Amino acid sequence: MRYSLSDRVFRRAMNRRDFLWLMSASGVAASATLAGCAVDPVTGKQTFVLMSEEQEVALDQQQAPYQFSNDYGELQDTQVNGYVSDLGHELARLSHRPQMPYTFRGVNSTAINAYAFPGGTIAVTRGILVEMDNEAELAALLGHEIGHVNARHQAEQAAKTKVAELAMAGANAYVRQSEHSDYAGLFEALGSAAKGALLAHYSRDDEREADELGMTYMTRAGQNPNGMAGLMNILRQSSRRKPGMLDLMFATHPMSDERYQTAKSRARQRYGSMRTAPDNRERYMDKTARLRRIKGAIEAIQRAEADMNQSNLRTAEGHLKQALRIAPRDYTALVMMAKCQLAQEKPRAAQRYAERAKRIYPSEAQGHHTGGLAKLMQRQFDGAYQDFSQYDAMLPGNPNTTFLKGVSLEGMQNVPGAAQEYYSFLQSNSQGWQAQHAYQRLASWGYVR
Ligand SMILES: [Zn+2]
Repeated sequence: MRYSLSDRVFRRAMNRRDFLWLMSASGVAASATLAGCAVDPVTGKQTFVLMSEEQEVALDQQQAPYQFSNDYGELQDTQVNGYVSDLGHELARLSHRPQMPYTFRGVNSTAINAYAFPGGTIAVTRGILVEMDNEAELAALLGHEIGHVNARHQAEQAAKTKVAELAMAGANAYVRQSEHSDYAGLFEALGSAAKGALLAHYSRDDEREADELGMTYMTRAGQNPNGMAGLMNILRQSSRRKPGMLDLMFATHPMSDERYQTAKSRARQRYGSMRTAPDNRERYMDKTARLRRIKGAIEAIQRAEADMNQSNLRTAEGHLKQALRIAPRDYTALVMMAKCQLAQEKPRAAQRYAERAKRIYPSEAQGHHTGGLAKLMQRQFDGAYQDFSQYDAMLPGNPNTTFLKGVSLEGMQNVPGAAQEYYSFLQSNSQGWQAQHAYQRLASWGYVR
C-alpha cells in the first residue's frame, strides 16, 4: 500500500485540484466490492459470501502481521509455540477445510484472548495460556478458532460490512489520533492498532457454531470433550476475577453462561463415550512450565495495562517495575514501560527501555517504533528516522509511520525527503492534524499551489 513518488510529479508542483483528486482517488479505488456465491464447507449449501478463498488468504496475510505486533510479537518460547502449532495442525487436518494454510502460535500479549484470521492464521495469548489447566482446554480453544475459519464467519461478515473496510482497517486503525497540533498527539499513536480493530467481531450464532465445530474437531482428535466446558468455565471465572482483562475476548467472542451449559450437556449427550479420554494435563503443564513460572509478571502486566487504559500512569509504572523484577527480559513489559514513560513525557527513560526491548527482540516492530518516538521527542531526528525506517520495513503500509518519517526528515532539514513522505501520507489520509501539518508543509515548500 505504499506509493512511491516519481521525481517528475514533484518537479511539477501540484495545484490544489490535482491534490484533491489524488486524495479522493486513493479512497475510492479500494472500495470495490467482491461478491460471489460459494459452497459453505460445513453445511455443503450455497451461500452468498463476498470473498473467495484466495481473498480470505490474502486478507489474512495482510492483517495478521499487524495484529501480531499489536500483541508484542509471537512468543520466543519455541517449546510453547511448537506445542500450540502441533496440536492446532492435528485438529485442522480433521476439520472441514484441511486445505487452508493454517498456522498456530502463541503471542506475547497478556490479555486473555485468542483469534483467527480468515485464511487460517490462529493465535493464542500468554494471558490465556497461563489460565488453562490441560491440553483438552487448549484443544477446545484452538478447535473453536478453527471452527470460525471453517464456517467462514469472517467472509460472511464481509457481506455485511465491506471487504474494503476490512482491508483498510489495518492501515487506518493506526491513524485515529485526535486534533492535537503538537507532539502530544503522537502519544496516541504509540504504534499499536486500536484494540481489536483488526479482529472479527462475531455474532452469538457464530459463537455457537464455532463451539459446536470445535468440539467436533477436538473429539475427532481424541481429546476429552469436557475441555470445552472447562474452557468456558475459565473464561467465566476470569471475567469475575479479572474484570477488564477479557474485554477483547468478550467483544470478539460473545460469551454467555448458555455456552458453558451447552458445552457441558453436549459433552454428556453427544460425546458421552469420549468423556473418559485423558485431558493430558501433565503434558500441558510440562510444555507451558516456563510461562507459568512468570505468571506473576504476566498478571502485573495485566494490571499495568488496565491502569494505562485509565491513564493511571504512575500506578501502571509500579506494576511494570514489579513485572520486570520477576522477568527482567520481558519484551512486553519493556515496551509498555517505554510507552508509559513516553506518555509521562520522559523520553530519555523511554528510550532506555525501548533500546533494551530492541536488543531482546530485534525482529519485533514495536520496540523500534517506541524508540523512534522517544528520539523524536528529544529532537534526535537521525536516530528517529532510522527507527521508523526499521519499523516500516517490518510492517510496511502504515501511514502513521510515513508521517513520522516525514517529521524526522523535516527535522533533519531534508525537505525533498520530508515532502515525499508527507505526499505519500496524504494519499491515504486527508483528515486530522497530521494531514493538516503535511499539507501545510507541502504548501509552504511550494509543492502545492
Ligand atoms: Zn469465537
